[in-house]
Amino acid sequence: MLFFKETRKTGDIVKQITSLDEDDRFEGIRCPLCAWRPSSGDLWCCFRDDDSPEPPFRSCGTIWNTFATRGRCTGCSHQWKWTSCLRCSAWSLHEDWYERRS
Ligand SMILES: [Zn+2]
Ligand SMILES: [Zn+2]
Repeated sequence: MLFFKETRKTGDIVKQITSLDEDDRFEGIRCPLCAWRPSSGDLWCCFRDDDSPEPPFRSCGTIWNTFATRGRCTGCSHQWKWTSCLRCSAWSLHEDWYERRS
């Protein structure tokens, strides 16, 4: 009798994503206003102030890379519609940061 054992777990596959792939994920993302390109080391804060065009919600203060989650806060799961640029500090719609190939 033969026994086959499934050893591959989902967690192992997730861990295989290297930092190289992480930088690739930021290809094609740039500020629509000043063309600044974020990288995997850039961080945003889940904090809404009155200068923000984001509709009022209870921001949680989490610091994370917003382009790693397509604008969703990892702390409170708020889907940010707007993203501020870390260079020119202007707000743009999150979707507008993704370059479209026509
Ligand atoms: Zn949050
Ligand atoms: Zn900018």
